[in-house]
Amino acid sequence: MATHHTRAVVVALDPSPMQEQLLRSYCGSSRKAYNWVLELVKDNLNTRVAEQKRGVDEADLTAVMSWSPYSLTPLWVKHQDELAPWHHDVVNYAFRSGITNATTALKNFNESKKGLRKGQRVGFPRFKSRRSKLSITFVETRNQDNWFSEDARHVRLLLPRWATDPLITRHREQLAWIHTTESVRQLGRLVAEKKATIQKVTISFVGGRWQAAFSVRYAEVPASRPVKRRGPLVGVDLGVKHLATLSQPVLGISDEAGHVANPKHLETALVRLARLNRRLARCQKGSSNRTKIVRQRQRLYGRVTKTRDLQLHRLTTTLAGSFDVVAIEDLYVRGMTVKRRSSSTRGLSRSILDASFSELRRQLTYKTADRGHALVVVERFFPSSKMCSNCGETRTKLTLSDRVYECSNCGLSLDRDVNAARNIHREALRLLSITNTVAGNQLETLNAVSRHRETEAPTGVDAGTVTRAESSIHPREQLLSV
Ligand SMILES: [Zn+2]
Repeated sequence: MATHHTRAVVVALDPSPMQEQLLRSYCGSSRKAYNWVLELVKDNLNTRVAEQKRGVDEADLTAVMSWSPYSLTPLWVKHQDELAPWHHDVVNYAFRSGITNATTALKNFNESKKGLRKGQRVGFPRFKSRRSKLSITFVETRNQDNWFSEDARHVRLLLPRWATDPLITRHREQLAWIHTTESVRQLGRLVAEKKATIQKVTISFVGGRWQAAFSVRYAEVPASRPVKRRGPLVGVDLGVKHLATLSQPVLGISDEAGHVANPKHLETALVRLARLNRRLARCQKGSSNRTKIVRQRQRLYGRVTKTRDLQLHRLTTTLAGSFDVVAIEDLYVRGMTVKRRSSSTRGLSRSILDASFSELRRQLTYKTADRGHALVVVERFFPSSKMCSNCGETRTKLTLSDRVYECSNCGLSLDRDVNAARNIHREALRLLSITNTVAGNQLETLNAVSRHRETEAPTGVDAGTVTRAESSIHPREQLLSV
């Protein structure tokens, strides 16, 4: 087991208008280089495929080009005059960020293709469009003392010092200190005491705001607040009406039935979002009014996801700490589980639900691993909501309005979500008992199961028989891959 743990620390930024303009141009430059790499590699691969089709000998095929930043960066520098005639206006660093990001994406794609990578299959990286998320990554492992200002309210972007171009020197000064909306004192202290080192920082524009995500490497996992142990296993069903439903109520985060409430104001925010969407549809393209509404929508959306995120953190910390095993369902593709006034709010809550599901899984994965606990993921075609948690009878039809599960076989009458959570709980128990009979210790074998699964892709087998369990994927992989 690695002794280092990498975590992302996200800080909200408040750049000056001039800094913001600069950041935008840096993100654009990064995107340019990113797409350039993808295009180059794609061409190279396509040429080979075409040659193979023509029956060219293996030995005479066009060589596979190197995907390493060390060979791509000089290539970029050689051609940058034609590729980006404006390259003198930004620090070279911006292009390098794009090249590095593209090579990482290509590496993930390649490893996934060869079956060396856990998790979902990764396709060939997508080209970034003008509408893609603005982001740029600065890698800097030396100069650990220079990241934060004395007042802990500003962060610095470490642009290389060797550049002597006056324009670059000016940029360096302009981007030297970006105001943060919250204090970074705690992180600054850890870095100063050499308990943590910063690997890189990604600046991005998310939810209408700029943020800096520091990739921090801790010598040891920051101690988590001890929580009361509540049991061996809990099943979690993520929902729309409630943030989540637990198979066993946990006082403090859920009510007596096991429902974890949604963040306050979510409903109102969704209605406002839908209203903004309608206004946006009526707006003229390119009008200043449109820009204003887009900005408003970004911010509102950002606020909704942020509050939901905070709530999720509270939930996952408690669950990962209080139970030995947490069981969740694989990605939600349950179709229409939402019933709301307008179709646009429905679509919105849908996308928020999807986003929070992957976030829930990500958080649970590293939080359970940190505490030596495990996460079990039940396959998605497991009929958690259609099955009776008491007798196992499966109903063929379950409509949206059926908030209560009524079993015609045993007469059970239970809240729909609680029923689903209990089914997930039961399925996880079944999986664990299978792993146990295979080889003694449960927590260790969970990993073995997951590795085994990766090599043979599950195909349409009976619901509930194909399963995947995972426990201690190194948190770093998880964090950096999203
Ligand atoms: Zn029943």
